[in-house]
Amino acid sequence: MQVAKVIVDVPSRQTNKPFSYLIPDNLSSAILVGMRVQVPFGHRKITGFVIEVTDHVDFDGKLKPIDSVIDLTPVISPELMSLAIKMSETTYAFLISCLQTMLPGGMKASMTKKIVATSPQVIADNEELFHGQSEVQLASNTNPQTTSQVLSLIKQELVTVDYDLKRSASAVELLGVQAAMSVEQLTSELTTVRANATGQQQLLKKLIGHPETNFVQADLVKEGISASTVKTAVNRGWAQATKIHQNRDPFMQPVKPSQPLELNKDQQVAVDKVTDAIKANLNECFLLEGVTGSGKTEVYLQIMDLALKQGKAALMLVPEITLTPQIVNRVRSRFGNQVAMLHSAMSNGERYDEWQRINRGEAKVVVGVRSAIFAPINNLGVIIVDEEHDASYKQTDNPRYQTRDVAKFRAEYNHCPVVLGSATPSLESRARAQKGVYQLLRLPHRINDQVLPKVDVVDMREAMKHSSSLLAQALQTKISEKLTRHEQVILMLNRRGYASFLMCRSCGYVPQCPNCDISLTVHKGSHSLKCHYCGHEEPIPEACPQCQSKKIRSFGYGSEQLEEQVHKLFPSAKTLRMDVDTTRKKGAHERIINAFANKEADILLGTQMIAKGLDFPDVTLVGVLNADSALQFPDFRSSERTFELLTQVAGRAGRADKTGEVVIQTYNPNHYAIQLSQRQDYEAFYQKEMGIRRIGKYPPFYYTIKITGNSKNERTVLSQMLSLTNYLKGQLSNQAILLGPTPKMITRINNHYYYQTIIKYRFEDQLKPALDKILTESQKLKDVQLSIDNEPLDF
Ligand code: ADP
Ligand code: ZN
Ligand code: ZN
Repeated sequence: MQVAKVIVDVPSRQTNKPFSYLIPDNLSSAILVGMRVQVPFGHRKITGFVIEVTDHVDFDGKLKPIDSVIDLTPVISPELMSLAIKMSETTYAFLISCLQTMLPGGMKASMTKKIVATSPQVIADNEELFHGQSEVQLASNTNPQTTSQVLSLIKQELVTVDYDLKRSASAVELLGVQAAMSVEQLTSELTTVRANATGQQQLLKKLIGHPETNFVQADLVKEGISASTVKTAVNRGWAQATKIHQNRDPFMQPVKPSQPLELNKDQQVAVDKVTDAIKANLNECFLLEGVTGSGKTEVYLQIMDLALKQGKAALMLVPEITLTPQIVNRVRSRFGNQVAMLHSAMSNGERYDEWQRINRGEAKVVVGVRSAIFAPINNLGVIIVDEEHDASYKQTDNPRYQTRDVAKFRAEYNHCPVVLGSATPSLESRARAQKGVYQLLRLPHRINDQVLPKVDVVDMREAMKHSSSLLAQALQTKISEKLTRHEQVILMLNRRGYASFLMCRSCGYVPQCPNCDISLTVHKGSHSLKCHYCGHEEPIPEACPQCQSKKIRSFGYGSEQLEEQVHKLFPSAKTLRMDVDTTRKKGAHERIINAFANKEADILLGTQMIAKGLDFPDVTLVGVLNADSALQFPDFRSSERTFELLTQVAGRAGRADKTGEVVIQTYNPNHYAIQLSQRQDYEAFYQKEMGIRRIGKYPPFYYTIKITGNSKNERTVLSQMLSLTNYLKGQLSNQAILLGPTPKMITRINNHYYYQTIIKYRFEDQLKPALDKILTESQKLKDVQLSIDNEPLDF
């Protein structure tokens, strides 16, 4: 008798363990670890993952049989299965959420599958299954007999399996337009069009020139033919509206192939060290510390090339990929069709296609964001984590994993090296390199000895005495200079919207979010006040809701207002704005970046989105308008964040043959994070910050855990947090430090109250059992949701 141990898709403490099910005879030896199955659970039928198949039954009651199989081949490899189990232990997340996280979004259990015969003989031998066709669809409720026949064919490798994601692929359906009249008719229509209706003329000429072509409407708009012109054309019968299925290739543009560059000495040392480890199957971790523009990317490319030559695959992780299309293009230009890309802005269909290409071993180079660390790559030769300090590597929802740690686990499993790269490594990684746990590789110089940009710090306390402009005079002068020389400028203001808040000058009233403890942000583009925490939106009031005064005014600045001021100061300059509000649509990032690269604009302005990984040779000036924004947060990492951000954004200036300049506007010119980023002195920053962390007992000297409770009822959550904190105090040794419970900085979000307790510790045997106990107990609490974050990014 065979039994399968199944993790059911019910995320709760009680079900966070395997349940045993009988494997029916007709499915025997067909059910494998890593497949999803349908099982009876209570009165329902639910999905579960098989994590073990065994002959040994340690259950004396009567076992229920598995209902049906969902997957015909395992979707979780043995490697990823052991990773899921480990992740569940270290992140305190349910095993089921770890398993679900590993699958691409579109792979729902209800999806139809398709099997494809590998030869005509297979079709002939299985006439009742194929009915003479080369492929058949299998519904999720296929009868057990057929299923077992199919499973046996899969085992003999006579058929291949594919999921049918046609429906989700329609996400990339585009609006199109096509000629509906003959060329002669269209030509005579052209004579009737008014002379000033240039859009209509343009469109008619296009239809006449290419009567068979299905034009993408969005492309026409780019050429100046508006949507309303297209509508007119349809109304007059010249053209018909169509739908265009776009190929699910996630790469928007073709790239030119590139050849490996000749490396400089430092680059060569780095490549050699890592490639030696690849050849020797050594699980080593390297920290590649290289100033901005020192050629780290070229190092990654050559390392990956070597892995491929060794017959292995390579994985390269980058921060939110939509922000760094330039990096992806560089990888594609080197490795062409072997590259698969995985990121969250792709449609389910695209992501699934890429997942399959990786799974089948067709794509040997995978580039992706955080979640790509779970790509089904076999035979990994190296994992590269670019900009390893980046906050996007930490998942903020369950399972709250740190990508760097998952990378290390996979590298260990695959006996391969990991390369963490950054100009400003996280203190955690740098401290490990210091201790010799990681091997430190350095690229201390920019390519061709291009000097690092010259950084000026402007004291805004002084500047504001002379002018209330958002841009200090010194920065304005430099912008004019660059514009006359036709060079490009980047301006960063790390706050979106138009103004920070609205205030009545008569009574002091500030509009607040009704659901959160935070004031609303002014958005002029949408004429509204928005909450950046819960999404609440309301119109901007004409008069004060409290005293009816009309003296209601906005205070503080956001990227929208920056754009307005830049237009006033430099009316002839063309600008592009990049922030959450301008990049909601798919592909919007890439369009803005390409437009700036093609010099369609002189000034790129935006939030911290513009700080990362971009490489524009003509940018010679970078202005940072509110360098203090991160420093204002009462968080132990605020200096590190500020230093990182300023160094990264400064690194955007002067990357080619022109020297760059940077202007940092600040109200804290004496703060060490500002001063050391002015010198771009990572080493000094590291030493200074480590001293502070040591005294404050913060990471990397101490490990941390954050326990957060939230509830609609403030008193309930506070009393629960008090009692669990007391319990922990009793359980943990007196070496552990407990802080809390304290309200979160914004205590109420979306009408829930948040309280947290922080544990700082170095060695703590009792921690895991104590936290497991708390989580088990918390199941009984109806009104409080508890979450645990191991090594949180902030508190
Ligand atoms: P980083 O990733 O460290 O910021 P990049 O890899 O973007 O630096 O390199 C900066 C620029 O220098 C790029 O335009 C790159 O093509 C170029 N580059 C890198 N390595 C070399 C080399 N060995 N010889 C010539 N140019 C190089
Ligand atoms: Zn008022
Ligand atoms: Zn809100």
